[in-house]
Amino acid sequence: RAKSEGRKTLRYFKPEMDARQQARRELEADLRKAVQNGEFELYYQPIYDLHREKVSTLEALLRWNHPQRGRVSPADFIPLAEEMGLIVDLGRWVLYQACLDAAQWPEEVKVSVNVSAIQFKSADLFGDIVSALAVAGLPPERLDLEITESVIIQNRDQTLALLHDLKFHGVSISMDDFGTGYSSLSYLRSFPFDKIKIDKSFVDDIAENQQALALIRAIIFLGKTLGMAITVEGVETSEQFSLLQKEACDEIQGYYVNAPRPVSEAQAMMEFYPAE
Ligand code: C2E
Ligand code: MG
Ligand code: MG
Ligand code: MG
Repeated sequence: RAKSEGRKTLRYFKPEMDARQQARRELEADLRKAVQNGEFELYYQPIYDLHREKVSTLEALLRWNHPQRGRVSPADFIPLAEEMGLIVDLGRWVLYQACLDAAQWPEEVKVSVNVSAIQFKSADLFGDIVSALAVAGLPPERLDLEITESVIIQNRDQTLALLHDLKFHGVSISMDDFGTGYSSLSYLRSFPFDKIKIDKSFVDDIAENQQALALIRAIIFLGKTLGMAITVEGVETSEQFSLLQKEACDEIQGYYVNAPRPVSEAQAMMEFYPAE
């Protein structure tokens, strides 16, 4: 009896599981083809320097233009590309393309590139970065690498050595999505970050909530004390913008300045004048 019920349960769940696995297998196959078919594109989002009152950097954000599905979000395909190991080739493509694009921009504007933990573990990342810069003719000082906590956690000693090599070469390093992971503050002491990017979740309600404002103020102070610049991500309103300006935050990024846009709009995005 129990056996037949078990079988019933199985029969009920199995088609659904198959459908999900099937959808995933299709997405994987599509992802593999997408690399060969050139379905990827880089969008750019400006980072605005509150002191110099200028756009300092454009962050490269990967977009997948799927022939049937339309635009697939990086939140959906990057984890998959990481699991499949495809992120190594894809990440190399991002690096080269971003350096080539940035070589066309004014020399005071940098480009930042997101780098996955898998790239740190399984590829000759230093070699790839040096060649991408050389091929593009981009000075290393114009490249910023954005890494997340997962990079450090998965590979502490090797990452530390590599980050020191990169910094010695002239490339700058940003801690991305600060405050969202395990947030062991101790790594701020041992890792040579030039910049901390505070995650959007910390800025969302700073205009309405005193506690939220106090928290972001404390993080800005922490970064300053350690000699790191502070970028706040996900700034959407003029209220948030002026609050952060008062808090002596260094840079902001978000829809208030500009959403990520195609490279053809890079020049236009470098002009930003906040409303008085
Ligand atoms: P991220 O590096 O933290 O990038 C910021 C994300 O926040 C981007 O999402 C951006 O479009 C979004 N964003 C920026 N300003 C605002 C705002 O004011 N409001 C809201 N609601 N969102 C805002 P996107 O482009 O979907 O990328 C998501 C994540 O995917 C990135 O987070 C990054 O972790 C990853 N990613 C994107 N491109 C690459 C890549 O080339 N390589 C790797 N390894 N990861 C990438
Ligand atoms: Mg980023
Ligand atoms: Mg981020
Ligand atoms: Mg993020």
